[in-house]
Amino acid sequence: MQLAIDPATVKGFLDPAEARALHDAALAASPNGPMLEVGGYCGLSALHIGTAAKAAGGLLYSLDHHRGSEENQPGWEWHDPELWDPQAGALDTLPHFRRTIRQAGLEEHVVALVGRSDVVARHWATPLALLFIDGGHTMAAALADWRGWSPHVMPGGTLAIHDVFPDPADGGRPPYEVYARALASGLFEETAAVRSLRLLRRL
Ligand code: MG
Repeated sequence: MQLAIDPATVKGFLDPAEARALHDAALAASPNGPMLEVGGYCGLSALHIGTAAKAAGGLLYSLDHHRGSEENQPGWEWHDPELWDPQAGALDTLPHFRRTIRQAGLEEHVVALVGRSDVVARHWATPLALLFIDGGHTMAAALADWRGWSPHVMPGGTLAIHDVFPDPADGGRPPYEVYARALASGLFEETAAVRSLRLLRRL
């Protein structure tokens, strides 16, 4: 995996081993169709998935409202004051995302979709070769991502879920609930687990 920029310079929450697993899954999926991630933030995961897309002639849609998840808001654990837009009175991660993608030379391989996950999903109709769910961690947000996007994973396609913690002491529960629902649906089988990343295959 040869990245055009140092991932340590990009804000985000992605372990290097998880990043490599995502990259490799994206490399395999790219020839089969477009990929979509929910939760772009400042472009760290898009850097890895997009680099694979570039190598394999693929495309990543990176969806985010770019106003930060609940845990990114002022006063919360994962708030970063550098992302605050005083004019909007809100977080704005989009300029950071765009800079990452531009600096990495990925503008032809990563397309930003700016909006709420459920709103963008409403009229989506394109089968996805890979779906990466890494959005909001409230139960409502996680389930909306599951309901809105998982039906679009093509047979044989990959569903990747971040921040899956079987032990609630390690982190919030909603991504685990999405993972559990995916397995319980009978439509997905697990193919890999790398730290908090789970990779599943659509049957
Ligand atoms: Mg995450």
